[in-house]
Amino acid sequence: MSLISDVAKYPRLAWDLRGFLRNTITLEQSKQVLSARLQNREKNFLSLVRKGIYGNPGSPYLKLLKMACCEFEDIENMVNRDGIEAALHKLVAAGVYLSWEEFKGKKDVIRGGNHFSFKEQDFDNPFLSSYYYVQSSGTRSAGTRTQFDLRHRSDISYYYLLALAVGNALDVPMGIWMPILPSLTGISGLLHYWNIGKPVAKWFTPVYENQVQASLRDRLALRYIIYAGRLWGAKLAKPDYVSVVEAIKVAHWVADTKKQFGGCSLTCFPSLMVKVCHAAVGNGLDISGTHFFGGGEPFTEAKCREIEAAGATANPRYWITEIGFIGCSCRGLSDVDDVHLFSDSVATIQRQRKVEHTDISVNAFLFTSLMTSSPKVMLNVESDDYGVMETRSCGCLFEELGFKEHLYNIRSFAKLTGSGMTIIGSDFVRILEEVLPHEYGGAATDYQLLEEEDSQGQTHLCLIISPDVGAVDENEVKDIVLEELRRNTYGGKLAAGFWSQVNTLCVKRMHPKSSSGKIATLHLTKR
Ligand SMILES: [Zn+2]
Repeated sequence: MSLISDVAKYPRLAWDLRGFLRNTITLEQSKQVLSARLQNREKNFLSLVRKGIYGNPGSPYLKLLKMACCEFEDIENMVNRDGIEAALHKLVAAGVYLSWEEFKGKKDVIRGGNHFSFKEQDFDNPFLSSYYYVQSSGTRSAGTRTQFDLRHRSDISYYYLLALAVGNALDVPMGIWMPILPSLTGISGLLHYWNIGKPVAKWFTPVYENQVQASLRDRLALRYIIYAGRLWGAKLAKPDYVSVVEAIKVAHWVADTKKQFGGCSLTCFPSLMVKVCHAAVGNGLDISGTHFFGGGEPFTEAKCREIEAAGATANPRYWITEIGFIGCSCRGLSDVDDVHLFSDSVATIQRQRKVEHTDISVNAFLFTSLMTSSPKVMLNVESDDYGVMETRSCGCLFEELGFKEHLYNIRSFAKLTGSGMTIIGSDFVRILEEVLPHEYGGAATDYQLLEEEDSQGQTHLCLIISPDVGAVDENEVKDIVLEELRRNTYGGKLAAGFWSQVNTLCVKRMHPKSSSGKIATLHLTKR
């Protein structure tokens, strides 16, 4: 989409933005809306399937469903008889599902003797009048073009208010340390918190525009939203650049805010939470009682230990740009990354599958959108994440509203996540199997990428180079990898801009690891 056609949509954006910013959601409304959505989930699902799939001749799902000889009435009957999830399992068995790469149009879909070729935009929700396309790197989902729509933002805001209520963080100022556009995370945080009457008091961005090579469109959109908002009385915070190695500046803001207002909240990626806590403890700053909210990379025990060492609490969120807010934690966690599944807007099932380029089998999540404002139509789409799903009682407000399913031990199986930035595994495979052997010699099997976490809870991507490959300048090899990501990977500019600041990418000279005699290019550490 060109800049011109974007600008043509700005008057509509202006009108809707004004309505969005003038409306403040209350806690009572949030409870009512979410309860109603839970009650109507089957109706909403069937309506999306009828209009978004069967009523949309270009829908890729229509082709898969025809292959499975499945008409709308069949799905309706299955849902009415056995419920959404049982119907989804039957569809998976009939071949109606997509891997993340298939959903992103990176790989053809082969089911039985049928061969389909889909493009990423084929999955756009046809009922959405989007103003703007954003890139989703910076969340768990790597590099997908996603529509930005204020109706969807509104639908998601209800979760934000409940998340603060459940986390006992309604009465303290909120700061965010999230990237600017092209990542959606910062700007959407700014809008959601305004929408629930809890405006962001301070916005730190860990990257600046040149660093992520932000397009003119992104630069204009950011200023447009902030200054147009101010014109209508919404005092939206401007982003202040604080690099990821300057966590002490954020820690000072948190400590000062706590001193002044009796408490503070901060929304950021888990790696950054750890950096803030570390900086606070190391410099004798009191940030105890601070509520950290965020997701975008695995929430591990090591990270939680670091956060607790500063006397702060972590409130994990599970988020995928294409779907929205999938889940949020409460105080009754059974595991460090335990979240309540927001089953009003997303139906989730699991299937056992082997991970490509590795010898590991995982219980992958498959997501189906139930919200008509969802940016993408998703029917049994994997997100490259796996984990545990169970129904459990914890006694919190989420449960009271009917959110009884929990997800935890959530990890990615083909995406690589470092400091909240995500790259799809297959993009890295090309670098490991072609670019590096071409540059330094050796075989494709002499290179491997390992995702690991250090004792301080920071996620690192370790580039393993076999000693069989001759002398290698480690800084040069890092530069080559980052440059390749920047040039040839969608979403890579943001990740490279981010990773180049910290030691996210490190090099180790050792023989590639193998878990069953077979060398995998991407090696997943079993945690
Ligand atoms: Zn709970």
